[in-house]
Amino acid sequence: MLHIKKRLAFTLPAAAMAASFALPASAAVVASIKPIGFIAAAIADGVTPVEVLLPDGASEHDYALRPSDVKRIKNADLVVWVGPEMEAFLTKSAAQLPANKNLEIADIAGVKPLLIRGIDDDEHEHDAELSKESVKSGQQDVSDEHHHHGEFNMHLWMSPEIARQSAVAIHGKLLELMPQSKAKLDANLHQFEAELADTDKHIGAQLAPVRNKGYFVFHDAYSYFEKHYGLSPLGHFTVNPEIQPGAQRLNQIRTQLVEQKATCVFAEPQFRPAVIDAVSRGTNVRKGTLDPLGMGISLTKDSYVKFLSQLSSQYASCLNGA
Ligand SMILES: [Zn+2]
Repeated sequence: MLHIKKRLAFTLPAAAMAASFALPASAAVVASIKPIGFIAAAIADGVTPVEVLLPDGASEHDYALRPSDVKRIKNADLVVWVGPEMEAFLTKSAAQLPANKNLEIADIAGVKPLLIRGIDDDEHEHDAELSKESVKSGQQDVSDEHHHHGEFNMHLWMSPEIARQSAVAIHGKLLELMPQSKAKLDANLHQFEAELADTDKHIGAQLAPVRNKGYFVFHDAYSYFEKHYGLSPLGHFTVNPEIQPGAQRLNQIRTQLVEQKATCVFAEPQFRPAVIDAVSRGTNVRKGTLDPLGMGISLTKDSYVKFLSQLSSQYASCLNGA
């Protein structure tokens, strides 16, 4: 009797495992950009692989899908992205996905009230042709006003709270698609939430001493992080890193750097424009680097908290002037 019971207990999980191996080999969670891949990797760990579309060094504002990307999207278990206002390059492919395989972070009910308005202070507004095209080809007749860029800042992965809600939403979608993995998915979500809360506390403590130090960032990617941790940005050079600021804007920034006694100017790993050197020359302003996409960080279940911690250290090391 005892023997039979034991054997049964071992056979059942084996059958469940066989069922999960029967899934098509190409299926995976496909994330548009790396930080979203980080969040997905925490939830999908041990359940299904996670892939990222945007290669390291590419700009989230300006990417064109390769034919292999289109295939990956089509075969994905789930596609996770911010939404058409950020990744215009995904609009068309995502529109062809069934709703249960398409997760737009900007569309999560709890995220909408957290959106921060964008600042329209440069040429970015007039550079929306690409997204206009994609919206039209999605068969929607939307007024021009509707696809105005910059209504909201869409760098949503910079907000720890939006990241948490994204994790909950990814968990929900994967649970629908793979109910047999519920125990692992639940455990992954709990672990992610606990680590995020812990990291959030550490970052708050690390940044507390530099909250009042003014600085400029190269591109307008950090609002959610800055607001969450109470930092004091004085401004940004550009909204879209592909668009260099004009001479008049640079003059303004230079004046502000001096008059407002900025401590730092931050470039990015993929954007080290000469304008940053030019603007800070002859001032006491220090130069730092902020990585908004976690370029050097690989996809593991801990990568999102590593990403936030790295960003925090990058702020702290320049603003502290150590
Ligand atoms: Zn950006």
